[in-house]
Amino acid sequence: MTTLEDEISQSYNMPDPTNTIVNVTYPHTGIAMINMDAPESAANILDEQLFSELDRTMAELMEQDDLQGVILFSAKPTIFIAGADLKRIAATLDWPEKKIVEFCQRGRAVMARFSRCPFVSIAAIHGACVGGGLELPLWCDLRIATSDRRTILGLPEVKLGLVPGWAGTARLPRITNLDIAVDLITSGRLISASEANSMGLIDAVVPQEALIEEAVKMIQRVSISESFIFDRKKIMGPVDAVGDLEAIVLKYGKRIIENKEIFPFAPTVVLEHMTRSASLPIKAAWNSESVAMAQVYGSPASRGLINHFFLVDHNKKQPGLVDMKLPPAKIRKVGIVGAGLMGQAIAKNCLQRGLDIVLLDANAEIQQSVASQLKREHPDRTIESSENYEALAGCELVIESVVETVAVKTLVLQKIESAVNDATLIASNTSAIPIETLANSLNRPANFCGIHFCHPELMSLVEVVCGPESSEQTIATAVKFVKSLRKMPVAMNDGAGFVVNRLLAAMIDQALRIFTNGTSIEAIDSAMREFGFPGGPFEIIDVIGVDTCLYAGRTMWESGSQCVTLSPILPRLVKSGFLGRKKGKGFYAYPDARGPRQWDADLLSIIEIYRNEKDQSQLLNEKLIVTQILSAIVLEATRIIEEEIVEDFRDIDLCIIEGFGFPPHHGGILFWADQVGIDTVLQTLTSLGKNDSNIAPNSAIRLQAKNQTPFYPTLTPPTK
Ligand code: NAD
Repeated sequence: MTTLEDEISQSYNMPDPTNTIVNVTYPHTGIAMINMDAPESAANILDEQLFSELDRTMAELMEQDDLQGVILFSAKPTIFIAGADLKRIAATLDWPEKKIVEFCQRGRAVMARFSRCPFVSIAAIHGACVGGGLELPLWCDLRIATSDRRTILGLPEVKLGLVPGWAGTARLPRITNLDIAVDLITSGRLISASEANSMGLIDAVVPQEALIEEAVKMIQRVSISESFIFDRKKIMGPVDAVGDLEAIVLKYGKRIIENKEIFPFAPTVVLEHMTRSASLPIKAAWNSESVAMAQVYGSPASRGLINHFFLVDHNKKQPGLVDMKLPPAKIRKVGIVGAGLMGQAIAKNCLQRGLDIVLLDANAEIQQSVASQLKREHPDRTIESSENYEALAGCELVIESVVETVAVKTLVLQKIESAVNDATLIASNTSAIPIETLANSLNRPANFCGIHFCHPELMSLVEVVCGPESSEQTIATAVKFVKSLRKMPVAMNDGAGFVVNRLLAAMIDQALRIFTNGTSIEAIDSAMREFGFPGGPFEIIDVIGVDTCLYAGRTMWESGSQCVTLSPILPRLVKSGFLGRKKGKGFYAYPDARGPRQWDADLLSIIEIYRNEKDQSQLLNEKLIVTQILSAIVLEATRIIEEEIVEDFRDIDLCIIEGFGFPPHHGGILFWADQVGIDTVLQTLTSLGKNDSNIAPNSAIRLQAKNQTPFYPTLTPPTK
């Protein structure tokens, strides 16, 4: 009779012997060292080849009768195993339940060899050990890890809308306890080796140089005591002292709902499965885990989250239109002109990453109070503040972040250029003004580009905008600088509003139209929140500033952008002092600048005149609000693609998620269009476009609907 292990061996393609990942050596008597080192790759990934080689290696080692133990380790400097092969998962999302269950069983069967072998197994962990990469060590008798800060452990599958499927949910609570395991798996958070040690997840933390030596000693100790045999039997039973299951469901159920960063579907499935199976023998927990995996595998949320993962991963390798091979100039001191909402946040970002700053603002009071505050927060950094542009002389980079008008910015940029040396990079944080317009007044436009922080405190995305004369070196340095702030740069071509603000403008424009036609501000915001945005369009306007939105919108409109219509509502609010959160009132009132919003009855009295009263039955329901707003954004996205503002259409989806909070579990605006179907987008825009050709479907959308071609032919981005 063939065992499952045999079946697996047969099901995998035999690896190319010249290109193997696993290599076994015997430097210590009676101990086999399994070294994992994926060729031509920075990471070990649990792909078919690694499974197959581990399976075969363990089968061979289990035949030997003189082994005391086996040490599993990685030759990679920063990674033990980075997780499962996501490309394979992305290619199999349509699998039926039976195949998913089989996929889980097969992985477990290979890993189970580490807990069935007639000798002690130990995982010696250095570097990232996450997802399936941690499930494998959980099958070993012992785990030892280095104290190096690069050694991080965790089961972050829920962040991809998945659940650990190779017994992570069954073994972790039986190795630690149910509370710890539920906490780690439902949050997906990653922990250090010392935290893992304090939880009992690993057995020892040692300096990197002592890792193998300590692993050898542990094997010698444990194989003599034979305690591993007792532990193996014990783990096959239920979770020890499960505690109050109801209390665990309540505690983590509440946290799942509150955690807005992770879509709740997969964590809820995990919580149900882990509490349901905790009192059962481990085999029943495995089966329950397979069922849980089948529930989430290929779910819309998981597809979206996996797409988001690929978008971020792609960006790490290629952050847009930039030559990553060019060596960037070194930035140590950054000048920031304009110490308002954005200037302050950029300054904080720079200081947090160890850069010195020079701060300059036309308003001496603002400048001094911001500089004093920053000095209190960062006493160890050099913070100069001056009203004199000469203070910028020693900066390698100066970022202009003054009010959003061409006249003021032009003047400020000219003053900056005459104060700094020829090599200094100058950037504008403009929200929408084309870089070309601002560069026209400069003598060294090659040294100038846009560095548009979408919102330095709330968003990761930073648009690096190449003006027509920006040099490649300027862009390479700007991208590297943004990365050094631990932000996400996307380098792109020039054009009013770049990417994020064009998409945002399309959203705001549509929201204002829907409001004008009678639907309430709260209903619109609530529909978009329900879809997954952290705030609705009107809440977003208040965060950015009503005036900033107005000026940015006006710039785009003047450049001929079709995504903006000149609604009288924003100018009216600005005129009445309703500037958003920063002034305590905008579309909502904010008694506390950082506190929750309140409905403001005064507001309606100001903007009611711009609203057509509708009969209640004609007001849009939640679904229609979302479909109309998102279809308008899709339309703008296709225009951005046509104008070749971005190098790759995927950058638009990254920009909308990381730039203004589009929910990652919907995968991006173009990904959403694929999911909902291009016909829905076409129909929505056709109906909206009856009254305004700016919002009518363009030829790109018509063609796509005609040919039924998706934006994403595959989930995985092409490798260059
Ligand atoms: P803000 O009104 O809060 O701050 C602007 C600052 O510029 C003020 O402190 C003002 O005193 C100063 N200033 C005005 N004229 C000046 C001059 N001639 N010289 C020196 N300082 C001068 O505005 P903000 O929200 O910080 O926006 C600044 C820039 O950042 C704008 O271009 C805006 O479009 C852009 N931006 C804003 C956001 C946002 O969410 N608010 C996001 C990204 C980019």
